[in-house]
Amino acid sequence: MEERQRAVLGDEDGGPTCPLCCEEMESTDLALLPCPCGYQICLLCLHKIRNEGNKQCPACRSE
Ligand SMILES: [Zn+2]
Ligand SMILES: [Zn+2]
Repeated sequence: MEERQRAVLGDEDGGPTCPLCCEEMESTDLALLPCPCGYQICLLCLHKIRNEGNKQCPACRSE
């Protein structure tokens, strides 16, 4: 079951991708943890969510 967990973050080209825009995430994107739940998105999408006023985590709906 451990392999299944790894596949959640990125199963394309071996690199993790942003679940919102499907762009590959760089180390800078991976370094930031916007939510304690471990959900990760790229910087662009993070800014998007912040600018739109909806600062909720898409995964767990917490701020
Ligand atoms: Zn993104
Ligand atoms: Zn979250």
